[in-house]
Amino acid sequence: MIMNIEEAEKNIEQKGFLDLEVDVKLDLFAEIERLKKEKNAILLAHYYQEPDIQDVADYIGDSLGLAQKARQADADIIVFAGVHFMAETAKILNPSKKVLLPDLKAGCSLADSAPAAPFRAFKEKHPNHIVISYINCTAEIKALSDIICTSGNAEKIIESVPKDQPIIFAPDRNLGAYLNKKTGRNMVLWNGACMVHEIFSLEKITKLKMRHPNAKLIAHPECEEPVLAIADYIGSTTQLLKYSQTDTAMEYIVATETGILHQMQQAMPGKTFIPAPPNNSCACNDCPHMKLNTLEKLYLCMMYEKPEILMDEELRLAAKKPMDRMMEISKAAGLIG
Ligand code: SF4
Repeated sequence: MIMNIEEAEKNIEQKGFLDLEVDVKLDLFAEIERLKKEKNAILLAHYYQEPDIQDVADYIGDSLGLAQKARQADADIIVFAGVHFMAETAKILNPSKKVLLPDLKAGCSLADSAPAAPFRAFKEKHPNHIVISYINCTAEIKALSDIICTSGNAEKIIESVPKDQPIIFAPDRNLGAYLNKKTGRNMVLWNGACMVHEIFSLEKITKLKMRHPNAKLIAHPECEEPVLAIADYIGSTTQLLKYSQTDTAMEYIVATETGILHQMQQAMPGKTFIPAPPNNSCACNDCPHMKLNTLEKLYLCMMYEKPEILMDEELRLAAKKPMDRMMEISKAAGLIG
């Protein structure tokens, strides 16, 4: 059924986006550029977005870079091509801006793995602990945390905490275990995980490495320990991108979401980037949440300024405190400008 804008707006909660027909002859790239100028909007996109969205974005980055850009944005509208917790983070950091997300249902399996009520109970069981939470969590979990971190700054954040201070790390158990190993801490880990980074097949990667003996395996720390154990380099999405540009190898097996391969190939057209194979019959490791955003939904959300991220002010302020702490520590460590 073809809906009009009034009907589409009424259905936005249920659908997650404005379900309107878009003229196939429309040049969406030009239209999005026009809307950016007309509405004084900035388009921020995560590396895991589809290539078309990356190509039309004003800034492409991982969670840390995007949070920093969102905080500094002086446009009237921040259009966030990413998942819900990221757009929520933009609103936490820059509340006077209108924050738009093309599809409200673009969630995150990792954020969903830490619901607020059981996490509060978990925290009560560990009364002397401070909570460091990975940015991939809801505003409610941020509000229950002392410091937020990203995969790019987690080590520095943990090192900033006195060694005798017990820590709860949430929500990613794989990243937490990796960080325990790296920092020599014994953080208590919340049992959450990302569905995309847990899907890689050690067996298939091992076989792939045999077929490509000169290829280096580069992996995101959200991957499981056996994959990390055979990786040549482990880092956040931005760190993987930088490493592939400065390292001398010509071939890489990339164990993270496939969206980053677009930037890698653009930056280093002479190198070969092979997505690490997942543990199923599908040949891709796309994040189904990230890929809910499309160019059409992006265009519609910029056109009608919906769906918009709205947040309770008390929750926003509570969630902002540990984010500010992260920014302070990252700045002191020279990780951000
Ligand atoms: S890749 Fe994993 S952590 Fe990132 S948005 Fe998708 S489910 Fe969440």
